[in-house]
Amino acid sequence: MPRELLLQVTPEIAANELLLKDYLSKQIKVSPKEIQHISILKRSIDARQKAIKINLKVIIYLQGEPFQETKIELPSYKDVSSAQEVIVVGAGPAGLFAALQLIELGLKPIVIERGKDVRGRRRDLKAINVDHLVNEDSNYCFGEGGAGTYSDGKLYTRSKKRGDVTRILELLVAFGASEDILVEAHPHIGTNKLPKIIEDIRNKIIEFGGQVLFDTRVTDILVKNNEVEGIITQTGDKILANKLILATGHSARDIFELLDKKKIFIEAKPFALGVRAEHSQELIDSIQYSCDYRGEHLPPAPYSIVKQVNGRGMYSFCMCPGGVIAPCATSPGEVVTNGWSPSKRDQATANSGIVIELKLEDFKPFEKFGALAGMEFQKSIEQKAWHLAGETQKVPAQRMIDFTQNKVSADIPKTSYVPGTTSVEMGQVFPGFLSQILREGFKEFGKSMRGYLTNEAILHAPESRTSSPVRIPRDPITYEHLQIKGLYPCGEGAGYAGGIISAAIDGEKCALMIAETLK
Ligand code: FAD
Repeated sequence: MPRELLLQVTPEIAANELLLKDYLSKQIKVSPKEIQHISILKRSIDARQKAIKINLKVIIYLQGEPFQETKIELPSYKDVSSAQEVIVVGAGPAGLFAALQLIELGLKPIVIERGKDVRGRRRDLKAINVDHLVNEDSNYCFGEGGAGTYSDGKLYTRSKKRGDVTRILELLVAFGASEDILVEAHPHIGTNKLPKIIEDIRNKIIEFGGQVLFDTRVTDILVKNNEVEGIITQTGDKILANKLILATGHSARDIFELLDKKKIFIEAKPFALGVRAEHSQELIDSIQYSCDYRGEHLPPAPYSIVKQVNGRGMYSFCMCPGGVIAPCATSPGEVVTNGWSPSKRDQATANSGIVIELKLEDFKPFEKFGALAGMEFQKSIEQKAWHLAGETQKVPAQRMIDFTQNKVSADIPKTSYVPGTTSVEMGQVFPGFLSQILREGFKEFGKSMRGYLTNEAILHAPESRTSSPVRIPRDPITYEHLQIKGLYPCGEGAGYAGGIISAAIDGEKCALMIAETLK
């Protein structure tokens, strides 16, 4: 019988098949030649001690034991070109995985996306980075693949439903992601690899009879007697269907405004907001791995930190080892930061959102906006940051210790944020209570991670699109909107996901719920 083993090895052994075989042969007291194959089931790093170890879960097949290479295949999709149509608004992870699931269930998705396809999108990313021009339909948040396309592609989630997570990871592998994502404790894909996977998903949707419309912005939802009838696009075209998955993401402010105007029930929702901190990757490696040089067998170190400060959670968010800070505004007149990494995470800098959880009462100055109060609060900070940094895509920046001491930095070195930075006292960007928590919090972070609190670290503001400021309420069992029949609020924008994997899971769930009603 093949043997399953849990073991701890050095990074060097874990990285080298022959060394691992040799090590295991000694463990199970056989000669290396007797080992036919080693399958790695799980891999994680244990950096708690000075001598870093890699935890592995493996299965060892000896010669003569039954072993077969398994290839992860796509489900057997059927042609749905003449099946019942379902409108899916948004081609982010929620929309794309909803579309695939609809096809699997024999329904025809019509995916409507305001942005361009992944290739076309690149030009607009260049324009925002180099020319400070924000295209309101094609940017780091909008376009094929949604906000996750040009990201670090971290694939971990707090979802406890392992089966659902594994299904999405396996679909990603079937669409070309490395099988490593099934094994790593903290898998990620990388900006350079995601676009091709997204393109292949789109091609599969079309191959099996679905439709994908780019450059098509939904400007109205047709509703009669509290039932969905279809949508209207920016060119005035109508697309009719009585099932609609609304997966427009956390940045589609025009959709929240539309729902509010049409008196379709939405509610304000707390989210988190703060800054994006950038350190050298070398410094983060030395803190996390307790060494001067991480060596060739360890990956660039991530970090995750959370503290309670003045009764609020302050925590790292979307940390990108070996990554770059990206300009993620979706309208002119605002600045927004987030981060991405290539698959090798081989850039010299490490960045992370450092955010504070907000409460509904924080939106009080904006209460006249009702359900949009949180969104207006978020917008006001992004616009103030834009103004303070000089009304381009440059962002306000400050050295970390200077910030904790309320001191404008005398200079800001070049950071990975391509549009550039302006030295600003960050306290001006945020309401007083938020700046105070951030100042205290960075001092606390410095106590837990020695070396983290340094003037070599540069803060960029704001990190404001962490999750949706609005929830579109739905029935917890049927996933249908509480008031509008046939409307399925979905993914991060509706308040039911946070990240690529959970958005994809939610997309699949909405598709399954629709199929249920059609049985
Ligand atoms: P979105 O991805 O936001 O997709 C919504 C889509 O709807 C967009 O394509 C948009 O163009 C479209 N849309 C909006 N309005 C309309 C309209 N009116 N008509 C038609 N289409 C419309 N998450 C992770 O898990 N790991 C990461 O490493 C990670 N890194 C990130 C890095 C960056 C730079 C950014 C911006 C986000 C990152 N995220 C990451 C977050 C992640 O991308 C989102 O959680 C996820 O994409 C949400 O999926 P979604 O499908 O719900 O919404």
